[in-house]
Amino acid sequence: MKYLVINSGSSSIKYQVIDMTTESVLATGLVERIGEASGRVQTTFYPGTARERESVVEQAIADHGSGMRSVLALLTDQEQGIITQPSEIAAIGHRVVHGGEDFQASTLITPVVIQAIERNIPLAPLHNPANLDGIRVAMEIFTGLPQVAVFDTAFHQTMPPRAFLYALPYALYEQDRVRRYGFHGTSHRFVAGECARLLGKPLSQCNLITVHLGNGCSMTAIENGVSVDTSLGMTPLEGLVMGTRSGDVDPALHLFLQQHKGMDLAAIDAMLNKESGLKGLCGLNDMRDIHKAAAGGDERAALALAVQTYRNRKYIGAFMAVLGRVDAIVFTAGIGENDPVVRAESLEGLEAFGVRLDPDRNRRHTGEARCISQEDSRVRVFVIPTNEELAIAREVAVVIGGKRR
Ligand code: ADP
Repeated sequence: MKYLVINSGSSSIKYQVIDMTTESVLATGLVERIGEASGRVQTTFYPGTARERESVVEQAIADHGSGMRSVLALLTDQEQGIITQPSEIAAIGHRVVHGGEDFQASTLITPVVIQAIERNIPLAPLHNPANLDGIRVAMEIFTGLPQVAVFDTAFHQTMPPRAFLYALPYALYEQDRVRRYGFHGTSHRFVAGECARLLGKPLSQCNLITVHLGNGCSMTAIENGVSVDTSLGMTPLEGLVMGTRSGDVDPALHLFLQQHKGMDLAAIDAMLNKESGLKGLCGLNDMRDIHKAAAGGDERAALALAVQTYRNRKYIGAFMAVLGRVDAIVFTAGIGENDPVVRAESLEGLEAFGVRLDPDRNRRHTGEARCISQEDSRVRVFVIPTNEELAIAREVAVVIGGKRR
């Protein structure tokens, strides 16, 4: 029961081979700089175990096809490999960023599904074509194998119209599907499931706020196990302050920048996505560097931290109002899992709303899922490591094996 999980980007492919009988990772790796003069295929076999070893091949990688073939060569390598032939892989799971309104759940890939992913390219012009490259290449190399698309947007398809509609002329929604979709759904769904386990009740009875803080950041309000609102919108730019993305701004900003700075829409888009967020505020986008700079007296770094954590708090408050009863707040992803300062500042002043963080538990770092609130906290607070590859593999098991979520 070995599954291959593929996250295909425009110039990279991330992959994992997972043994689903034990949910253990047999290999994890990255193909980088596809289409450039020098590329790189990196694989770690048996990560986190005594048998761990790394293999790196530096070579030009013309396209996704040759990248995937290099991966397969590594996986089937007689000495190092973890499989003897491609047919040992039972199924493949693909991360697909945008499923639009076409997909409420993960689905077996057929020509009709591929057409629907293509139809949603206008909503994710950078991501969906790259995801499709990965799918096409895998279909060519692993002929006849079941392949499953797992969408970042699917978990949020339960949002009601009052949460997903922008207050724009309704025809824009009817004709062009302009609406909020939300992303990181696989991660929010995964940590919600883990949280339900820790709370000891079915997910369908849990009200949660899941806070995914990585390079990209988003927050989801989960009512009785389903997403009812989320901070990312039609594209992954809305909402929280991210590494290089602005999150919420006044929509009239575009006009101002055009009129007063002579910027065209492409330049504004690039600025909002790549030069804003934490990086825009202080020049740094890695939270570890921001802490170092702030500790050294860099006021802008401290300000960037304050702007991000204030926005987090504001959204937590909004989602508490959306949900009414909140069983738990869950922090996940690079910053959410590792940064006690961001967690504490994001929850500052929320005692009146039943959130009582335990400072010692918050500071203790274990790498495990854990509760960091005080015993008497009405709203419990958890740190739960996300695992999007495992989440995708579990979705594959649900789709092809009829397993229950
Ligand atoms: P992605 O969204 O690319 O999957 P991750 O979830 O891996 O990103 O998060 C990456 C971010 O996590 C980094 O930019 C860094 O700011 C943050 N991070 C990682 N480790 C730590 C740490 N120990 N303390 C604070 N922040 C961290």
